[in-house]
Amino acid sequence: MNPVVLSLAFAAAILASLLIKFWLATRQMRHVAAHRDAVPPAFAGRVPLEAHQKAADYTLAKLRYGIVSEAFGNAVLVCWTLLGGLAWLNGVLLSLVEPRWGAMAYQLALIGLFVLIGALLELPFDLYSVFRLEQKFGFNNTTPRLFVADLLKSTGLAIAIGGPFLALVLWIMAATGALWWIWAWGAFALFQVLAMVLGPTVIAPLFNKFEPLEDEALAARTQSLMARCGFRAKGFFVKDGSRRSAHSNAYFTGFGRSKRVVFYDTLLKRVNGDEVEAVLAHELGHFARRHIAKRVTMVLAFAFGAFALLGWLVTQTGFYVGLGVPPNMTASNNALALLLFMLALPPFLFFVTPVFASLSRRDEYEADAYARSKANAADLVRALLKLYEDNASPLTSDPLYVRFYYSHPPITARAEALGLSVAEFAGAAA
Ligand SMILES: [Zn+2]
Repeated sequence: MNPVVLSLAFAAAILASLLIKFWLATRQMRHVAAHRDAVPPAFAGRVPLEAHQKAADYTLAKLRYGIVSEAFGNAVLVCWTLLGGLAWLNGVLLSLVEPRWGAMAYQLALIGLFVLIGALLELPFDLYSVFRLEQKFGFNNTTPRLFVADLLKSTGLAIAIGGPFLALVLWIMAATGALWWIWAWGAFALFQVLAMVLGPTVIAPLFNKFEPLEDEALAARTQSLMARCGFRAKGFFVKDGSRRSAHSNAYFTGFGRSKRVVFYDTLLKRVNGDEVEAVLAHELGHFARRHIAKRVTMVLAFAFGAFALLGWLVTQTGFYVGLGVPPNMTASNNALALLLFMLALPPFLFFVTPVFASLSRRDEYEADAYARSKANAADLVRALLKLYEDNASPLTSDPLYVRFYYSHPPITARAEALGLSVAEFAGAAA
């Protein structure tokens, strides 16, 4: 691999992706600002102008924040790679850690310190996002104390789970020969399955409470719907999302016995029984249409390709030099290769964002269609409208911005696909 070609391609990918991101953000800002002063006709009777304007202001503030944090993140990326940051860090650890504690300690220290420095650099942005941006719009419920507790917990988890997994991958890379990447992929696949089982059942409860519905009549309704959809009856949970934020949501997760649908308490407070059923039917639609299995298959297939590529790159001097780090002469290069791969991939992957977004939107339409067959479509749109208000999401977006980024179709498109005319859901109040 020619290092100069790689350097140029990498720099070009960063520059092009940034330009596209800024261009799309500007388009979206202009669109939202232009529609700020009038609620779209379809929602005229249902969404107060004040809420609509708050959504516009919040969207604009988030887009501005996004531009600054993108610019910063990419500057950090260039500092790590082309400007020699990682080469410097590697040089220090190579002379301090490797001779004394050996190859594995040096490699874990390199990745550990890299992650730590990255997290510290991002901390001001997280703080700003929670305590300034979200606070300003009245969404934040996170206290400084909870923020610190979360930080400590997630750091502890990263060390306790990420550390051993990383050590396993590094050991596989060193011990299993040229086809190490197949074994590493196998370990990754196993880790994914484990994460899907333990994520919702063990990890998430460390941060939130997940409880069954208190309202017995509503619980009976959700159980009967789940039974009609062939879903185990104990899979409905209410999450105390209000601990951290006033935003609301509902989601589906897990597989096998860890399968569950989760409603935020913030959403539950806002919707009526019919709307709960409609949203639940949508989430069950994701299971019925096997969207989790599809996603996992996609991730594993993609990871197989990525590991194969890395298996080749590890052996290429040009890969290291092209990304700003001269390879080690005597010590192992595996940790370096892993880091450089993780750093170099995102600017290139950015260009396939619209492909994944469009696949996700297709899944949402499928889940909506399923919901319509099991519950009332107008209730679903009414619940969505409340979700939009709780999250201050814009009711109309720049069409190109939607096509590039949106994992969910805009509410108007979803209502149309559900066969609802504007008058039908804008009409009678809930
Ligand atoms: Zn969905």
